Amino acid sequence: MHLIETGFTVTLIVLLAVIGWSVFVYLSPYRECRWCAAFASLRMRCRRCKGTKLTRRLGARHVHRVRLALRQAWEER
Ligand SMILES: [Zn+2]
Repeated sequence: MHLIETGFTVTLIVLLAVIGWSVFVYLSPYRECRWCAAFASLRMRCRRCKGTKLTRRLGARHVHRVRLALRQAWEER
């Protein structure tokens, strides 16, 4: 019984973390590129951001996709 409650709590925390991260990524999907300096030291153009100095945060693409899916579901209701 205790094990089930612990599992539930962990699930809840993970769920909240995912939701919190989704909101955060949705509000600011880009961050400064960390790879530019590494590529610059190799005298190469950055391949991660293609020179824009901005990269998407972890999961930004997924959040975007989920947002599109939600909007589609909303319009087809
Ligand atoms: Zn870069």
